[in-house]
Amino acid sequence: QAKMLGRNNFQYYTPAMNSMALKRLELENNLRRALARNEFVIYYQPLVEIPSGKINGMEALIRWQHPQWGLVSPDDFIPVAEDTGLIVSIGEWVLRTACAQNKAWQDAGYPPMRINVNLSARQFQQANLVQTIAGILEDTQLNPRWLGLEITESVAMKDVEFTGKMLFELRKMGITIAIDDFGTGYSSLSYLKRLPIDMIKIDRSFIRDISQDPDDASIVSTIIGLAQNLKMRVTAEGVETTEQLQFLQNHHCHEMQGYLFSQPLPAQELSSLLARGRISN
Ligand code: C2E
Ligand code: MG
Ligand code: MG
Ligand code: MG
Repeated sequence: QAKMLGRNNFQYYTPAMNSMALKRLELENNLRRALARNEFVIYYQPLVEIPSGKINGMEALIRWQHPQWGLVSPDDFIPVAEDTGLIVSIGEWVLRTACAQNKAWQDAGYPPMRINVNLSARQFQQANLVQTIAGILEDTQLNPRWLGLEITESVAMKDVEFTGKMLFELRKMGITIAIDDFGTGYSSLSYLKRLPIDMIKIDRSFIRDISQDPDDASIVSTIIGLAQNLKMRVTAEGVETTEQLQFLQNHHCHEMQGYLFSQPLPAQELSSLLARGRISN
């Protein structure tokens, strides 16, 4: 039996564990090379004002165009990038590419808009994050008012002292701060009030059933009311149906994002949408 396993017989691993560990190692090795090989791409998804249909901005969403595996979704590699620390350089690449793309769109004469970039927990812990971002804005010549940063509620609430300092510095530069996936973490409302937050993004899981589920409906209308009281803008994520849009409009939600208007798309495919500056219905 041992002979059949050959030289490298890690006998205390079950075959299933072994193959999982190997898969993960393969993913990690591939991920390490992906930046140098230029395999990442950014897709952009419009953030649309309610009810006008005006495009307020875009969210930058990374994908990995792997030569053998095809287009890999961020949920399948961001966690590994986060664990290994690779997210710091990948995240910098996303920031730089999104800012450069935004400047290119402006230089081409499209109406100016904000692009939101997601920041992971690990990136947010970097002491030099503010300088890094300032450097990227300088290099790309993008006015900071056209950059938004999305951090999740749990990242924001982890170390409120530190988060607050960081966010105030970024906000002072003119950058927009958004709390992502709102409702999925445990925000303390008194902390939320003290942080310099411009917008709250309601997590997709609450939007999905707003037209049928009274609990979700009241959660969403409560979050909209909360944001308005705190003078923050509010965006609904994952809007797929006109019923959901109707609900959001009735409850005076400012902005939405979802497949109803557009999937995330590569930059080249957005030009005609950007030229119109709005979603036509
Ligand atoms: P997120 O920041 O909450 O982004 C919104 C996600 O919802 C995106 O998934 C988007 O494609 C998806 N979405 C938008 N509208 C709809 C809809 O109508 N229906 C459904 N079912 N989904 C919709 P995506 O692109 O797969 O990204 C997943 C997550 O990966 C993001 O969630 C974000 O947490 C993370 N991510 C993406 N890009 C980056 C990045 O550059 N850096 C970091 N750190 N994380 C990123
Ligand atoms: Mg986001
Ligand atoms: Mg989100
Ligand atoms: Mg998410």
